[in-house]
Amino acid sequence: MRPGVDVNPALQVKRLSYHYPDGTAALRQVDFTLAQGARVGLIGPNGAGKSTLLWHLNGLLPDSPGKTPAVWIDGQPLTEKNLPEMRRRVGLMFQDANDQLFCATVAEDVAFGPRQLRLSPQEVQQRVQRSLQQVGLSGFEKRPPHHLSVGEKRRVCLAGVLACQPSILALDEPSSNLDPRGRRELIHLLAGLPQTQLIASHDLELIVELCQQVLLLDGGQIVAQGPTRSILNDEQLMLAHGLERPHVLRHAHPHNPSAEP
Ligand code: ADP
Repeated sequence: MRPGVDVNPALQVKRLSYHYPDGTAALRQVDFTLAQGARVGLIGPNGAGKSTLLWHLNGLLPDSPGKTPAVWIDGQPLTEKNLPEMRRRVGLMFQDANDQLFCATVAEDVAFGPRQLRLSPQEVQQRVQRSLQQVGLSGFEKRPPHHLSVGEKRRVCLAGVLACQPSILALDEPSSNLDPRGRRELIHLLAGLPQTQLIASHDLELIVELCQQVLLLDGGQIVAQGPTRSILNDEQLMLAHGLERPHVLRHAHPHNPSAEP
C-alpha cells in the first residue's frame, strides 16, 4: 500500500485471479502490498470478493498448479510445499465464530492450533494462558464456548489465532453482530496488537478508527487503494461501489479534527 518500494513487506499479492469451480470469477488480477505492522481495511459491497481474498492468504483455496505464486508472505511465496508454515503465519478469523469453535472448552479450542504445530504440552499451555490474557478472557478456560456471548466467542477465536503466533491477521467482519460494548472492546484489542492486519468489514467507522489505508474491492478487482480518509470521503467513489461515506467523516467539528469535510 505504501508508495515506493517496500523492501520487506509483510504481504504481497501479485495478479491474483480466482474462479470458483462453477466458473464465477471471484478475483481478477488483484495486486497489493502490505507493509510490516500496517492495519489495512478491505472494503467493498457484498460479493466483491473480500472473503475469497482472505481465504487465499491462508492458502485455503488451491492455486492452479504450476502458476506463478500470487501470495507472498514475509518475502516467501505461498506454495503447496510450505503451506503448513505459511498457514501458521497468517491467522484467519472467520466471520461466524461458530465455524471456528468446536471443542468442549475454551482452553481446548485455543489449544487446537498450537497442538497442530506439535509444540510441547507446556508450550501449548503457556500459549493458551498468554493469548487468553491478551484477549481479556483469563479465567474462561473451562467454559464451554457455545455458552459464551457473541463478543466472547469472537475473542476466543482471536485467542486461538494469536496462540499460533501469526505475523499477519486476516479478519473477516470482526465486528458483525457485536453490541456497542463488545465492538468497542474489539477495536481496543485490535488497536493494541502488533501484527500486520487486513480487516474486511462493512463497519466503515471501525475501519476509520483502526486502519491507515484501505483497499476497495468490487467485482473481484481493486478499484481504489490509499489513505482511508481520502477514499472514504470520496462520496462518488463510495456510491459507485455500493458504499456510503461514513457518518464519522460527515460531521466536521472544530474539536474533532478527524471529521474532515
Ligand atoms: P464478499 O466477501 O465480498 O461478500 P465473496 O468472496 O464471498 O465476496 O464472493 C465473491 C464472489 O464469489 C461472489 O460473486 C460470490 O457469489 C462468489 N462465490 C463465493 N463463494 C462461492 C462458491 N463457493 N462457489 C461459487 N461462487 C462463490
